[in-house]
Amino acid sequence: MSATNAAKKACKNGHVFTPENTYTSTSRGSPMRQCRQCRRERSRTAQRRHRSAVLDAKAFARLVDAIRDGVPESDLAGRFNINHETFLIAARAAKAAA
Ligand SMILES: [Zn+2]
Repeated sequence: MSATNAAKKACKNGHVFTPENTYTSTSRGSPMRQCRQCRRERSRTAQRRHRSAVLDAKAFARLVDAIRDGVPESDLAGRFNINHETFLIAARAAKAAA
C-alpha cells in the first residue's frame, strides 16, 4: 500500500482532514497538511498549563487559612498543587491578616 500524505483522510490524532479543518504550511519547500483541531487543542493545553500555576481566589483563601492553622508547606504543596513561590505569597497574606 502506497498511501501518500495527501491521501490520508485523518491526522495522527484521528481528526478528519476536511477543507475547514485543514491548513497547509510549507516544510522545506513541500506543502504539508496541518490539522486545525490539533492546533486548537495544543493552544488550549498550553493555556490550561499556564492557568494551573495560579490559584483562584477561593483556593487562595483556603490556602491562607491552612497556613494560619499551621499546616506545613509540604502538605500544602500536595493539597493545593502550588510551588514555593505561591506558598510564600500566601504565607505573607496569612501574616498580614493575622
Ligand atoms: Zn488533528
